[in-house]
Order: sequence, then structure tokens, then C-alpha cells
Amino acid sequence: MTEDMVAISLENSMNFNCNSENECFNDCCRDLNQALTPYDILRLKNNLGISSQIFLKTYTSLHYGPGSGLPVIEFKPNPDAGYECPFVTPEGCSVYEDRPASCRMYPLARAIARSRDTGEISEYFALIEEPHCKGFGKKTGQTVKEWLKGQNVSRHNKENDKLMELISLKNRILPGKLEGAGADIFYLGLYDLDEFRAQIIEKDLLNKFSLSEDLLTEIKTDDEVLLNLGIDWVKFMLFGIKMTSGE
Ligand code: SF4
Ligand code: SF4
Repeated sequence: MTEDMVAISLENSMNFNCNSENECFNDCCRDLNQALTPYDILRLKNNLGISSQIFLKTYTSLHYGPGSGLPVIEFKPNPDAGYECPFVTPEGCSVYEDRPASCRMYPLARAIARSRDTGEISEYFALIEEPHCKGFGKKTGQTVKEWLKGQNVSRHNKENDKLMELISLKNRILPGKLEGAGADIFYLGLYDLDEFRAQIIEKDLLNKFSLSEDLLTEIKTDDEVLLNLGIDWVKFMLFGIKMTSGE
């Protein structure tokens, strides 16, 4: 935890109020260095009504973690406008209903620990107090738990925890830098969902897994089912964990 982070619990008061009257309005959407999760991308590309390929190409940049070799997708900020997010407008966020989890959580940071015995997840929170943000010190009468509910972030957290599990498996089973095909599989199954779907349906990518007809029908229209299949596929391809999708 850095000096600017203070541990906080769900029952503590959340003395923080972000609104368009604050002099810092939209400042947190500039000078961006923001990684996106697979679920963030799923929600954003559907909000915009475009494919994952077009979303990734237009709005994001890709690099590979120097230690892990895992793909890292970040918003492509606009250098001519203070490295602002492609979706910020003078009125605020243009994709508010589907904004990423990190935007919903700010100024809270969330960490999780998963029990190896039960799989149960414990959550830990910290407040990140940055000088540019003027939302602090304002009494709202809300607890952290109530504030989080207002951000509607639980679904994002649930889906993003699956990525955390994959990264933890990678660190345990394949420590070091993931090269070549492994990184491509990770990218295809998690981030480039529309290409993953096309390869399953048009090129029979998963033919050796005997997926049920119901599942094949579902993934044509349901991106969340498709993402869960992608997670299962990555677990099998990288770590040899048996696929459960379609059983
Ligand atoms: S900088 Fe803080 S208070 Fe200002 S708009 Fe962003 S989150 Fe809200
Ligand atoms: S997605 Fe919305 S809230 Fe998040 S950085 Fe961009 S404009 Fe700001």
C-alpha cells in the first residue's frame, strides 16, 4: 500500500462526493494509464455497438507485461488533449452505464484473496487520496458498502475476479514470461471475443471439445457465456485444466 492509500472497511463512512460541480470534474479521466479487463471490454464494445476487433483497434493499445508476457490492454488516450480518455465529454462520461470497473471504484482500490480450500473470496479496500481529486472530506452519510452499491460495480467485480484467478494460476503453474502462442490464446479467448466466436463457429476452433448444441447457439448472441467459455478454454490450453463448459 502506498502513502496515499488508507485501508478502509465496508462499514466505514465514505466521505467522498463526486459531482459535476466539483472544480476537478473530469480531471480523473485525463492523464490516463488505464488497463481494461475482458469484462470491461465486453461492456464497452456492446455499449458502442461495435465488434471487439474494431473496439480494440480504435480505442485501445496492446502491450505485453514484461515479467508475465500476458497481454495488457489499455485505453488509447488522446495526447493532444491531456491524454484524456476517448469517452470523456464536457458533460462527463459518454459510456457511463458501461464504464470500466476501475472508473466505478475510484477513489477506492480493491484487492482480493481467494481461499485455496473453499475458493471463497475475501475483499479488502483502500482509499486512494490524490491531490487533483477534490471529492474528499464531504459528508454523504453513506458507508463504503452503500457507496459501492451506488456504483453498481458488483457484477464487474465478480467477472473481473475470474481474470484474477487466471493470473494467479499463470503465476503458480507457468511462472515467468509467457511467450508466443500462450499469449495469443489469452488474448483471443478473453479480449477479442467476436474473433473468438467467429473462429468457433466458422473454423470449428473448439471441435475437439464436443460443445453442446445449446452452448453453440448461446454463444452466438450471449457475450457473457462466450467469455466464460473463453476463460475455460484458456485454462485448458495454458494449464491443462479440464473444460467444464458444455458439460
Ligand atoms: S477528480 Fe475526483 S471528484 Fe473530481 S470528477 Fe474525478 S472522481 Fe470526481
Ligand atoms: S470510461 Fe468514462 S469514467 Fe472512465 S475514464 Fe473514460 S470517460 Fe472517464
